[in-house]
Amino acid sequence: MLHKVNPPDCQAELNELIGYQRKVLQFAVRNTAYSDQGFRAVMGNDFVDWINKGWNHSLRRVHRVFRTFLQNIQMLTKQPRLEKEQVLTQFENDQDYFDNLDNPHFVFSFDVNSKQTHEIARDVLVGFYNLLGIGFPQVLFPFSIEDGIFRKINVVEGFKNTNAFIQYVCPCCDNNFADTIRANIEGYTLEHYFPKSLYPAICLHPLNLIPMCEGCNSRKSDDDPIRPSALAPATIPLPELFHPIKRPVSTKVNLVFSSRKPKLDFKAIYPPPDYRPSIDSYDAFYGIPSRWENVWFRIEGRMDRCIKQAIRYFKMQGKIITQENFNYIIEVALEELQIEIGREQFAYPAFHWLNWQLKTSFENLYCSYLSEG
Ligand SMILES: [Zn+2]
Repeated sequence: MLHKVNPPDCQAELNELIGYQRKVLQFAVRNTAYSDQGFRAVMGNDFVDWINKGWNHSLRRVHRVFRTFLQNIQMLTKQPRLEKEQVLTQFENDQDYFDNLDNPHFVFSFDVNSKQTHEIARDVLVGFYNLLGIGFPQVLFPFSIEDGIFRKINVVEGFKNTNAFIQYVCPCCDNNFADTIRANIEGYTLEHYFPKSLYPAICLHPLNLIPMCEGCNSRKSDDDPIRPSALAPATIPLPELFHPIKRPVSTKVNLVFSSRKPKLDFKAIYPPPDYRPSIDSYDAFYGIPSRWENVWFRIEGRMDRCIKQAIRYFKMQGKIITQENFNYIIEVALEELQIEIGREQFAYPAFHWLNWQLKTSFENLYCSYLSEG
């Protein structure tokens, strides 16, 4: 959420999949029991053939995913009709969440805890998302897919195609993916910004999926970004919620350094609103200033060494260090830092470190080096 992220170029595919979720709910509303024929009438032959093939799959893991999915649909058909209709209406309401991020009156209406019907519907919707791990065959899509199957990795690829930087840094913390836990080769995981366990209606929404580093994804876990949770006790109004596509943190908040503690912190760029509850939640979920403190001090250490070395060189040559010379030394040190940053990708903390130094401490640095004799 720190940086702006463009939606993946597979929005149409994801919307098509949401269409299948909708049809499954519609099937459950219209039927009081499961039948292959009735399911075919609503979902189409290709879809049901694919589900049946999955059910009969020789791999237990694959078989289990399809079996659970179908059993949950069967259970959903048996629920009270009014509640099933409610689920469908709430599903539609929540699909519009992104267009309502500026709307203080919008509420997510699908509440997983309200009825058993909602719990079962959640399992159906999330079960459908889980099928993305196995992959949807091209026969269900009007799109061409490279190897004929649409999987999670295609969503990550879709983000890479629309965000050049995402190959190198995590959009949430600015960290290099290579530094993260190697759960998969690239260190990416697909984060549901609104967790799928609490917001199952938007578990396939293209504007609710963000590729993130393992570190960020596992920190936040399944916590609610707007309602009070174990990590973040505040309620966040939607118009003040950070969102990587709509309202990235870096457009609203600056990283600041207080030398007295010493400590990094986030500060709103221009109030109102002061984004304090949103900043606190963001901090609680991802802990970025504290994770960056090491980086910050490393940058500082490198600059310090660079400058000291240059000053020693000037003195050895018997040259007087003028303000002009010192400025040159800083320039060279910054160039070297740029190379470091380029390699390590901590662009955001490095940029703010520079700003902070330029504003507050280069002058002090200059004086202290001169007085060293
Ligand atoms: Zn990250």
